[in-house]
Amino acid sequence: MGELSELFAPERIAVVGATDRDGSVGRAIMENLLDSFAGEVVPVNPKRESVFDRPARDGVGETDADLAVIVVPPDVAVESVREAGEAGIGNVVVITAGFGETGSEGAARERELKDVAEAYDLNLVGPNSLGIMSTPVGMNATFGPEDADAGRMSFMSQSGAFITAVLDWANEQGIGFKDVVSLGNKAVLDESDFVDAWGTDPDTDVIIGYLEGIDDGQRFIRSAREVTQDTPIVLVKSGRTDAGAQAASSHTGTIAGSDEAYEAGLEQAGVIRAETVQELFDAARVLESQPVPERDGVAVITNAGGPGVMTTDAIGDSRLSMATFADDTLEAFREALPAGGNVYNPVDVVGDADNERFRDAVDVALGDENVGSVIVLACPTAVLDYEQLARDTVALQEEHEKPVAACFMGGARVEAAEAPLAEAGIPNYFDPARAVDGLDALSRFRDISEREYDEPTAFDVDRERAREILSSVEDRADTRLGVEAMDLLDAYGIQTPDGDIVDAPADALEVAEGIDGDVVMKIVSPDILHKSDIGGVKVGVPHEEVYDAYEDLVSRARNYQPDATIIGVQVQEMVDLDDGVETIVGMNRDPQFGPLLLFGLGGIFVETLEDTTFRVAPVSEAEAETMTEEIDAAPLLRGARGRDPVDVAGVAETIQRLSQLATDFPAILELDINPLVATPDGVKAVDVRLTVDPEEL
Ligand code: ADP
Ligand code: MG
Repeated sequence: MGELSELFAPERIAVVGATDRDGSVGRAIMENLLDSFAGEVVPVNPKRESVFDRPARDGVGETDADLAVIVVPPDVAVESVREAGEAGIGNVVVITAGFGETGSEGAARERELKDVAEAYDLNLVGPNSLGIMSTPVGMNATFGPEDADAGRMSFMSQSGAFITAVLDWANEQGIGFKDVVSLGNKAVLDESDFVDAWGTDPDTDVIIGYLEGIDDGQRFIRSAREVTQDTPIVLVKSGRTDAGAQAASSHTGTIAGSDEAYEAGLEQAGVIRAETVQELFDAARVLESQPVPERDGVAVITNAGGPGVMTTDAIGDSRLSMATFADDTLEAFREALPAGGNVYNPVDVVGDADNERFRDAVDVALGDENVGSVIVLACPTAVLDYEQLARDTVALQEEHEKPVAACFMGGARVEAAEAPLAEAGIPNYFDPARAVDGLDALSRFRDISEREYDEPTAFDVDRERAREILSSVEDRADTRLGVEAMDLLDAYGIQTPDGDIVDAPADALEVAEGIDGDVVMKIVSPDILHKSDIGGVKVGVPHEEVYDAYEDLVSRARNYQPDATIIGVQVQEMVDLDDGVETIVGMNRDPQFGPLLLFGLGGIFVETLEDTTFRVAPVSEAEAETMTEEIDAAPLLRGARGRDPVDVAGVAETIQRLSQLATDFPAILELDINPLVATPDGVKAVDVRLTVDPEEL
């Protein structure tokens, strides 16, 4: 593929299927291009002499263009693309619909299109695309009704209709764009390609997108991680699809749907995810125009008590905090404010504050080292001129080079203040929560751009042994494995209690006698997923009861399902649960992102409590550690209420070792270690369940 920058900066555009027929897509594109494109527009239509007074060519091969926009019907579209490729045109936008989105015939056509694109090494957008835009060259190669204003955001969208809606709104808001692309069916170029391209584009300051899906999650993470070292990416991801074709038989599979994978994958990629279009543009605008704060302390300067409290609450809900002022800042406030004022954060300059007092207070706050950013929060009064306050805010923001958000409350009164603030890129909202969200996005991006991505640790493991154990499903009717696959964990260095699986009561006793103290006994059957649900787990069995316990477990299994395949009974060392915490470490496979790891509070109530966190594998040591800190029950691991802290490092290591196992073996579709009992002395995996795809072995 050629450089994508060429796609957005063509000199000659051929419109294949150009026409002036009213209401047609070919006409809309011609009109949009002729309106403002800096280069040449060449219509291609063998049935016309000319289109819009330009001589029409019979074929795209005669155009000498460097970009071809295809609007001909689907049955001839692929042929046109082939001709473009043959003529050495490297960039193609296929507007035509009737491909993969329409059924099997369309899907076949899309495969053909892909093959042609590959054969000629084409930068191909679409098919089923609204088109592309690039404001520096005045190119609007879409059939939408709106043109984009110039700006420094580049925007990709999987929905063409959404682009037209956004542009209509953005034009009114004064939001401009550098490039816009309607991704269409993403037969060739997808979101990762545009992330790569815009990441190195000097004219793109922020990448924004509306995505319904990400084709190759692992590639997207790699691309976005690199790009977000400098360029923020803000995305709305909509549409929730089912995680996999296979019905989940693990807890992880039940809890981890595709949205969990997106949540984790986008986070790991360094993407700021917006839930709504408003959030998307609030974040994008402030990222485009304001510096990132050096620290998270916010100063709130206000002339009204109530809104000050609202803002304080919003800051409390965010990753930011209320700044604590330095002594000389407090001193300066005392001098600047009247007796009724509050020198502590939120600073109350009092309702009678004029512009001078307000400005002085903002100036003092911005000058404090502890203050990373400032919110100027004003209610209308007779002595305050909003326009002047806006000008002062802009000047002070520029002088101190710290991010500032404005909350000038009111209606018509605010209008005069809008223009100077907007020009300086200072967002102004009625609602303090939105102002806080903007500063929050800046703080998040600061952390993202400073992230260091460590390589995952490579543990010394017995891969061959693991493969053998996984291959045991090949001789079975079922692709699920239970505790009979305990050795798989051993092969990857994950600690398990002593024990064995036996198929006779006398053997059970023999194993028990090799273990100190009471034992745990469990039924082993591929037909019994959750052993304790059927009374298939006996904890604290004294040696003298092992024989009877064996018989009892087997008869319970028979009662539950007469034809159940019973492999035997596991006799296992007891793990001290009193000092320990039952956790779950699991994985399942997401169609887009691949292996997804779960960590959470474990035991038999996992699905009831759902205290969990996710990451796309492989994870680094730091990421695994963060997982152990993220669950609500994290304080339990670190020794709440006078208990000894458990071996959290051991938990993090288990997560990493499972990450390596899941990465090494695509054949493992899902796996639960539940519980992984974490005690002060170490961690032990007392139960395992997994599903294997023998085809992938
Ligand atoms: P299942 O999940 O199929 O019901 P488990 O092997 O996870 O079966 O056992 C269920 C519960 O029994 C565990 O959550 C734990 O509380 C307890 N348990 C199982 N094995 C042990 C053990 N070796 N030591 C202490 N408690 C255990
Ligand atoms: Mg279990």
